[in-house]
Amino acid sequence: MAAAPIGILGGTFDPIHFGHLRLAEEVLEQAQLGQVRFMPSGIPPHREMPVISAQHRSAMVKLAIFNQQDFVLDEREVAHEVPSYTVNTLQALRTEVGETQPLCLLMGGDAFLKLHTWHQWEQLLALAHIVVMQRPGRPLGNAIQQADTALRQVYSDHLIPGVAGLREAPSGGIIVFDMLSLEISATDIRRRIAERRTIRYLMPDVVADYIYQNQLYINYVKPKR
Ligand code: ATP
Repeated sequence: MAAAPIGILGGTFDPIHFGHLRLAEEVLEQAQLGQVRFMPSGIPPHREMPVISAQHRSAMVKLAIFNQQDFVLDEREVAHEVPSYTVNTLQALRTEVGETQPLCLLMGGDAFLKLHTWHQWEQLLALAHIVVMQRPGRPLGNAIQQADTALRQVYSDHLIPGVAGLREAPSGGIIVFDMLSLEISATDIRRRIAERRTIRYLMPDVVADYIYQNQLYINYVKPKR
């Protein structure tokens, strides 16, 4: 019997909130993972720079997950001074864990629909499975019909019917799970802080306390698009 898959949840975590934690908890259960590794990005290649330092973002992840033993902080991207591409991170992880250990790259449906813009994205499935958590009201099946043609093709070629497929191979499958809708975003949290509004109960108390103690995000201005 193959070892339980390791899940990898990358993100800016600027800051971490219950949306991220709930995603990890649901995928841990539904995909029957052995652990979820939270991997804060140093310099994210696909989006604007995080508002606060990687050290602060990483410290908050550590605080948020301290009482869930199946959640692990993986800081390998934090120290990088150049953008860390997921494909390179997965290659490094694959070398560490060996050829047979199943790896699962975890993401929300919104992130999956932009996958074709990631560096060497076609390589990702050679290194890991992809587990997509779809939120109610945003079914991936509908959105994928309007998605990039190449992404649509990869999706239909790699979709696996059940969770057993995640253990039967170390990589190469795509699976979609439903999750509870928590309409929380880090952008909204940063805006609330800058407007001196409360952020309690959008994240663990220890994280809110850390933000207040370090006076993070108080000068945040949402970039105009
Ligand atoms: P921002 O508002 O700064 O864009 P974010 O809250 O979306 O940030 P990220 O760090 O970009 O957080 O997200 C990391 C991962 O978590 C992504 O795969 C994203 O789809 C997922 N995610 C973020 N918020 C939620 C949520 N409320 N429910 C489920 N998944 C989420």
